[in-house]
Amino acid sequence: MSTSAFSHLMRSVPAAPKIELRSFDGVARSESRATDPTLTCQARNAVAANDAFSFWKLAEEWQPALNEIILESARIAEHYLFENYLAACRRRPPSGLDTYYLVKNLIPDKIRFSINSLAIRVRRRQTFPNWPCEGTLLRLWRQWLQRALRQVGATDGWHIGFWPRGFRSCIVITHDVESSLGLDAMNAVADLEERYGFRSAWNLPLQQYAIDWKQVDNLRERGFEFGAHGLRHDGKLFRSAADFAALKPKLEKLAREHGLHGFRAPSTLRRAEWIASMTFDFDSSFADTDPWEPQPGGTCSIFPFFLSSQMVELPYTLPQDHTLIHLLHRDPLQVWMLKADWIASVGGLILTLTHPDYSGSGRYLQKYEDLLKHLAAIEGAWRALPSEVARWWRNRAALTLRVGDSGIRIEGAQAGEAVAVALSKEPLAN
Ligand SMILES: [Zn+2]
Repeated sequence: MSTSAFSHLMRSVPAAPKIELRSFDGVARSESRATDPTLTCQARNAVAANDAFSFWKLAEEWQPALNEIILESARIAEHYLFENYLAACRRRPPSGLDTYYLVKNLIPDKIRFSINSLAIRVRRRQTFPNWPCEGTLLRLWRQWLQRALRQVGATDGWHIGFWPRGFRSCIVITHDVESSLGLDAMNAVADLEERYGFRSAWNLPLQQYAIDWKQVDNLRERGFEFGAHGLRHDGKLFRSAADFAALKPKLEKLAREHGLHGFRAPSTLRRAEWIASMTFDFDSSFADTDPWEPQPGGTCSIFPFFLSSQMVELPYTLPQDHTLIHLLHRDPLQVWMLKADWIASVGGLILTLTHPDYSGSGRYLQKYEDLLKHLAAIEGAWRALPSEVARWWRNRAALTLRVGDSGIRIEGAQAGEAVAVALSKEPLAN
């Protein structure tokens, strides 16, 4: 993607509005009264380590001097990561979807895509988060780091690298399989991925159609993994507390029986606190930015984070094939390459979400192959399964970096995977 193409695409989307929060560079917000270190520590645990200190994983020796701005950063990060910039009614599935789901299966796909495409065009578009690239949270992480360096009187320092074994970014390939047609196309897509050195994760709706578990086992043996895509694509899971209470045990039981440890909500309809209450190891129902879904929004994060103290969130960060092809009528490859290059340039998580139902055959399979070719050429990227990234992010959180006269040490279980990186060498820090 050329620089001018990048600039053009960035100009074609509305600018982010002023958020009513002071940046990390500002004075501590009025509610931040973190003078008691014990209180600070409790608050850090309560937000499950999404504060800036835990994000960067700086030297432990710096922490006492930074306690106040660490607490402040946790509150600001939560504002974005948990979509708290949206009104409460927009952080759950919109009302009115029931009628859509009642008639959805009666309408031929082509007509349904046209109706949905028209609907998102007439829907009042939120100006924040930006699309396809949203950098507000990244800027805040960077500003916080600069402020922390000033506060400890350093011009450089060390942190535990974002990815294991010195990798500079991360690529995760995922799919949601919407129908038995998608199931039929899985092997062709998997063959292609293997050819380019990738293994992917497939999320299945567990009661939508008959699943061939032998096919699943065969793909597992080849290194692919599977997750749960809810029970059915019917909009019910997060519709009401009663629906969730009734469906959650069934979903968890089926997922357990089939060894599925990851979750993605059907149509990415979601409620953060309810997802966090489920027994999955990780979730991938949030985007970094996706204004085109029935529940628009985004976490503004191109890195994993903690949805709860137990559950890791892996936001999908490349626009969905369905959105680009059927709703926006755009060439998916151009947008995918633009976004992937931007994420790689700051060392983040490139997480794809495509459907074998839409791009598992014909010319869109060719576009998908071109995407794989492009991703395979990104140097220093860790090609990982979602479960591996979730495990790594949890391990990294439990590690401690010590920098002193005796040198630089990373302590904790599986510390050998982690690498200390100079902040001056970290793209996101500069
Ligand atoms: Zn789906």
